[in-house]
Amino acid sequence: MNEQLELYDVTIIGGGPAGLYTTFYSGMRELKTKLIEAQDQLGGRLLTYPEKIIWDVGGVTPIRCEKLIAQLIEQAGTFEPTIVLGQQITDFERQPDDTFILSTLSGERHHTRTVILTIGYGIRKMAKLEIEGADSYEVTNLYYTVQELEVFRGKRVLISGGGDSAVDWANELEAIAESVTVVHRRDSFGGHERNVSRMKQSSVDVRTPYAVQALHSKNGKDIDLVTIEHMETKEQEFLEVDAVIVNHGMRSDFGPIRNWDLNLGEWNATVGEKMATNIPGIFGAGDFVSYGSKVGLIAGTFTDGVLALNSAKLYLDPEAPTMAYVSSHNQRFKEKNKQFGIEDNQAQ
Ligand SMILES: Cc1cc2nc3c(=O)[nH]c(=O)nc-3n(C[C@H](O)[C@H](O)[C@H](O)COP(=O)(O)OP(=O)(O)OC[C@H]3O[C@@H](n4cnc5c(N)ncnc54)[C@H](O)[C@@H]3O)c2cc1C
Repeated sequence: MNEQLELYDVTIIGGGPAGLYTTFYSGMRELKTKLIEAQDQLGGRLLTYPEKIIWDVGGVTPIRCEKLIAQLIEQAGTFEPTIVLGQQITDFERQPDDTFILSTLSGERHHTRTVILTIGYGIRKMAKLEIEGADSYEVTNLYYTVQELEVFRGKRVLISGGGDSAVDWANELEAIAESVTVVHRRDSFGGHERNVSRMKQSSVDVRTPYAVQALHSKNGKDIDLVTIEHMETKEQEFLEVDAVIVNHGMRSDFGPIRNWDLNLGEWNATVGEKMATNIPGIFGAGDFVSYGSKVGLIAGTFTDGVLALNSAKLYLDPEAPTMAYVSSHNQRFKEKNKQFGIEDNQAQ
């Protein structure tokens, strides 16, 4: 089976800023590169705040996050790497020749000489309502996201949660729903102050500190009644509803990678200054790694990626230069510069 798999020099797991920039830099070092992302989209955590403006990436003047994602993706594609979407890496098997076979949740396999883990805090999943049987209502009137406001027109809507989105949805739905009730286990809300005040001054019925305790249905299909419970007094109330929206945030999880015997704490893997993990041939970069002077910013992920990639290069070829030749004088860009109408006479 191994013979049928194409062998790559480097496989980068995770397509956030760390993985995308490492993919670009891997091309600069002339390595055969594959990037594998579990989601169907590249961008990693940046996809959670696409509309925000980012100010703190060096040399990039204020930029909308979605534009930064697009530019990172474009840059990652410079040396035509193989990019695989929608595959979550779960396991690795070291081969007798020291290469790795990586396998995925959906059964695919990938062959590589080195691995760079840029998986952030792992796979992000919507936190579900922790009530037995709640999932059966997901096909009818239990929602985890608001795709279309119109669905809720004229309805009695209960929103569980107190984050940004819960507050935004309450404010938007107030104008079109028959009634909106927000149930939150804390008195404070995570949303922007202005939005929270707007919600509290509107007709939205804000119930804190309460939590949804049970869902009831007369027809066995749709939720028509919800039990909410006061967090301290445990007093219960019943609310008639037509729709329940849950916004309990996201949860991150390393999944089976937690069993790889990496030096992995709750949120990060400990690496040395060369971004090497405790497993030879496996390196890390970005939010996934922790070391003394770690910078938890997009800019920090770029430096981590360069260090990890240079370490992978030296692992493959101990005689190789310790870093790539700078891009301004790098022969690899000579042809590419022409695409921009730049004739670089200095290229050697
Ligand atoms: C709300 C918010 C605002 C922020 N604002 C800023 C800011 O203004 N400036 C700044 O510099 N930083 C900001 N940050 C921090 C920045 O987003 C992170 O530092 C950065 O996204 C980390 O990039 P990463 O590539 O290491 O990880 P991530 O962006 O988390 O990407 C990891 C990727 O790996 C994938 N993955 C995980 N496990 C697997 C697996 N097993 N197989 C395949 N793929 C996998 C995930 O799906 C994900 O796409 C912000 C963070 C948040 C949450």
